[in-house]
This record gives sequence, C-alpha cells and structure tokens, in this order.
Amino acid sequence: MLATPTAPPTLEHLTPHDLVTYFHCPHEMELHWSIRAHTLGRPAPPVHAPADVVPLRHSPLFAPPLGHVEVNEGRLDIDERDRLVYEDDDEEGLPVFFAPERVQRDPRFASGHSNLIDPELGLSGRPDFVIARAAGEYVPVEYKSTHLFVGYHEAHGRLFDTVQAIAECRLVHAVFGHRPSHGIVLYGDAAGGGAREGWVQIAYDSTAESWLKVALRQIREDRVRPPVPAERNCASCEPNSEGLCRYAAARYEGPYHRQTFLTTRRP
Ligand code: SF4
Repeated sequence: MLATPTAPPTLEHLTPHDLVTYFHCPHEMELHWSIRAHTLGRPAPPVHAPADVVPLRHSPLFAPPLGHVEVNEGRLDIDERDRLVYEDDDEEGLPVFFAPERVQRDPRFASGHSNLIDPELGLSGRPDFVIARAAGEYVPVEYKSTHLFVGYHEAHGRLFDTVQAIAECRLVHAVFGHRPSHGIVLYGDAAGGGAREGWVQIAYDSTAESWLKVALRQIREDRVRPPVPAERNCASCEPNSEGLCRYAAARYEGPYHRQTFLTTRRP
C-alpha cells in the first residue's frame, strides 16, 4: 500500500531585514515580529527566549564573506541605458534616479507594493530598487540617507550592508531569473552637494549564496533566539525604545545610533 504523500514542512518566513536584525540580536528579531503583529492586529508569534536565558556577548550568526566588498565614493554611476524595473513604493524618501521614460517596471510589481518572494528558501522582501543594467544584469539597490565615509571603511561596519545585499541578490535571482553578480547599498547623504555620497558594492558569488543558505537554516533551527545586550545593539533597538526588552544594556538613543556607532568606533 502506498504511503500517503505528506506536504513538505512550511519554512518559517524570513526577510532580509530579519537576517540583519538576527545578526544584531536574535531576541530583537522576535520582538520586531511581535510589534509588527500588534500593528497589524494579529496574534503575536511566540518569543522563544526563556526567562532564564543566558544572554550572549556576540551574535550567534557567523559573519558573511567580506572578501569582495567594494567601497566607492561619489555618485552612483548610472548608465543612460540603465532602466528601473522595481521600486518599493511603500518606502518613503527614496531619491529619483530615473526619468519617467527610463522607468520600465516589471508588470508583476507595477503597483510597487509587492514583495519579491523566493519560495525555495522561504525568503521574501523588498529592495528599495532593482535596476536593469545596460549589460543585461539586474541589480538590487538598498538606499540609506546617512553618510558612509567617516571611518566606515572598517570591515566591521560593512557587515550589515553585506547581509542585506546578499539576501536581496538572492531575491532578485529567484524572481527575475537573472543572477546578479553584486548588490548595492547606496548612501545618499544630501549634505555637501554630493561630497558625502557613496555606495558599497557587495559581490554575490557562490560563497555568499552558501552563507545565506546556512544563515537561514541557523535562524530557523535556533529555538532560543537569545538577547545580545550591548550598547551598539541596544541603543538603536526599536523594541528597546518601547521598553519591550528586559535585557537592554543601554538606553535607546535613536535609529541612527547604530550607524553613528559604526562610523566612530573601531571594531
Ligand atoms: S534591547 Fe538589546 S538585548 Fe534587548 S532586544 Fe534590543 S538589542 Fe537585543
């Protein structure tokens, strides 16, 4: 008698933002989920850290590969034949890169309110932009309005960019069918007439993809999701701003503290 086929287990849904947040502090990732569920009027998912959890001093997630990260100063070089094929319309304050005639949104995401979804890895999210380059490549771009180049050449400060860019490259590959060779994190500090702008180009190679798969598995297998209380984490932790974390090691100082911390302290 044939066994009844069973459906494959549903993967816990994760986003590039979850990866970055887990990399800061796994407990923060879960508290973010609780806040989001509350905002949407949904039941909050369980927070795994038990009452007697032992906080960690460092992230349990091993660092992504940093061997092929390129830091560039100045304006992003947009070719006149490049096209904008995706933009997250829910993200406020994004710059306008392209004249209307160079915006050719993929019809599946024309509304600008749709997630890019990778069902194989259970990953979804929204890069700020996806650019179709003149040479045929599709590249995700994540925009930050902060500046980059005050001490930011330290490798430690680029880890968070790298985590996000790798995950967004995977989404673009899964959805558009073009494997990006790299992702971009664009820093667009408007002060200084462009003198403080720059971008980081992060390679998306087989090593980066392998890191991503292992990282997603690690997050899903982590049934504790411990806190990592440290000034660099807690002072910019949104759940901390709402008094949700009992392990906080610092008062909340605002969303830009993390960036400031990374740009003024050596690793
Ligand atoms: S306050 Fe600190 S320990 Fe608590 S969730 Fe935020 S980053 Fe983690």
